Amino acid sequence: MARIRPPASRGRSRIFAFVETVGFRYGQRHAVELDCRPVILAELRKRFPGWGGKLGEDHVLDLGVIASLGVTAMTEDIEIKMTESGLPNTFVPGRNLLFFTAAAALAYRRGSGRSWAECARPTSPATRTAATIRSRHCRWRSALGMDRRFVLETPLMWIDKAATFALAEELGGKPLVELILEHTHTCYLGSRERHEWGPGCGECPACKLRKDGHARYRAARASRRSA
Ligand SMILES: [Zn+2]
Repeated sequence: MARIRPPASRGRSRIFAFVETVGFRYGQRHAVELDCRPVILAELRKRFPGWGGKLGEDHVLDLGVIASLGVTAMTEDIEIKMTESGLPNTFVPGRNLLFFTAAAALAYRRGSGRSWAECARPTSPATRTAATIRSRHCRWRSALGMDRRFVLETPLMWIDKAATFALAEELGGKPLVELILEHTHTCYLGSRERHEWGPGCGECPACKLRKDGHARYRAARASRRSA
């Protein structure tokens, strides 16, 4: 998703006057995540009327070229496993760079200089380093190609899933956490089987991260309440 109007900073949170959203179709196996998007937006408008007024147009961009660049378990029906690099074979090289470029180009045409990305926290020192390089690379590359400086916000990149659930509770209380558990999607296999931690197969790397994060969020919440 992209936030594409300038924000004003207030404490640790950035308050955006207006937000537009963007998703990408790239031949992902879990294309069901695209079906979840309009439902989530409708639920956000319904459950949080104050936020709904700031939500503008939604966009879905076709980046089908990603699937033609080579086989990964994210875009082909092959077994998900870890590779020698320490990354699962669901990793799609260059995908996020293409996401950033397309989001920045869209933001340019929509009259903004800022985009916001939902990036998962890197799970190992190697991927954290790669993510930092990617993030810095995007900053200058966007400036070179866009005729203006773009700021790419990646607020979820440096917090884990437990902290992401806690942030949702801080922003929207129990209704937002329930909306996330009911309607969002992370499972690489596209499973919508419902669990306490949300929908998914429970076994793929994305499900394991989400399940573990939700358990740690619940444990931290319980210990705060008993303190
Ligand atoms: Zn899964």
